[in-house]
Amino acid sequence: MDKRSVRDLELHGKKVLVRVDFNVPVKDGEVTDDTRIRRALPTIRYLLEQGAKVALISHLGRPKGEPDPRYRMDPVARRLEELLGEPVKKLDVAVGPEVERALAELERGVILLENSRFYPGETRNDPAFADALAAPFDLYVNDAFGAAHRAHATTVGVAERLPAAAGFLLEEELDYLDGVLRNPERPFVAILGGAKVSDKLGVIESLLGVADRLLVGGAMCFTFLKAKGYGVGTSLVEDDYLGEARRLMEEAGDRLVLPVDVVVAERMEEGVETKVVPVEEIPEGWMGLDIGPRTVELFRSHILEARTIFWNGPMGVFEIDAFARGTEGVARAVAESGATSVVGGGDSVAAVRKLGLEDRMSHISTGGGASLEYVEGRELPGVAVLPGKGEG
Ligand code: ADP
Ligand code: MG
Repeated sequence: MDKRSVRDLELHGKKVLVRVDFNVPVKDGEVTDDTRIRRALPTIRYLLEQGAKVALISHLGRPKGEPDPRYRMDPVARRLEELLGEPVKKLDVAVGPEVERALAELERGVILLENSRFYPGETRNDPAFADALAAPFDLYVNDAFGAAHRAHATTVGVAERLPAAAGFLLEEELDYLDGVLRNPERPFVAILGGAKVSDKLGVIESLLGVADRLLVGGAMCFTFLKAKGYGVGTSLVEDDYLGEARRLMEEAGDRLVLPVDVVVAERMEEGVETKVVPVEEIPEGWMGLDIGPRTVELFRSHILEARTIFWNGPMGVFEIDAFARGTEGVARAVAESGATSVVGGGDSVAAVRKLGLEDRMSHISTGGGASLEYVEGRELPGVAVLPGKGEG
């Protein structure tokens, strides 16, 4: 990565504001998945080892620009303290004299500021709020890949006001995505699934520019199958995108690989009757909810040849066991492939985790939306604002 790194900063005795992505699921006051907290630890530990005074800031959930008890950072603070093994001083504010005081008194551990979205200036990137955020600090580090596609006060405004650098997680995310997009070892196989074609048209387009094969499953395959003229029953289809689907198939030729069979049911429910049918024979009134076993074999053969894999979007409704086998088959093939594998997308990552295959992937992105925007070739504002290496 060509951005200035936290390694390039002189940190001893400096007050450092770190934007982390602690937007984690919380239930009954407990963090139910602490992945994002764990992934931020290397940067936090490094800053502490270098003798910096560290305050962390993140958003959590979708409060509406004012304090909302459901989205306080306290559960995150408790989990962070356990994982870090150092005291975490949680403040109920993100700006103002309390922050200055806490920094002056900080002897061990870190400060965790309150949810940035309790302030209306966060999402508006309000200059006065960004000034207030920056005021107590000497330096700014962005380690929040999952928020880098947003031009907010904690991702962009503060970076314009303090000497800024990328944290280790942000660097790792960008290095893996760059590796896949710019310089993939071939064959490069991209796997796309999930709910909507419309969400991911830009991603398909961009991947077709670089991938040797694009395997398409999930609900989005039915828009393609319908565009080819097949009956798709009551499967999810975006009729407005049939033309686009046809154009993409023409452009891609045999690089775009569609399912040959699917698992169908009359309803998307646990316990319903299911059948496996060839894609040419989806019955009226039935919907496709997973790729079928012959498709798993077909996708698997492409995946096992790959040297580089990018995967976004489950192959079926994996939340229901009867429709999870396609996603499982693909996940196992990716795990076995020995290829450099990058998995992005909230649900895809959840599926991989549910199967216990996280450690078998080269890189699991912490940012669903951000990774897709990056793959589309869009600039991420939180990254663009960081100075390059060697820049003043
Ligand atoms: P990600 O979060 O990995 O980017 P998406 O959010 O695009 O993935 O899509 C995930 C959702 O797509 C899941 O909730 C899954 O149930 C749904 N899905 C996958 N295949 C189908 C299908 N054939 N019909 C309906 N929904 C599907
Ligand atoms: Mg999703």
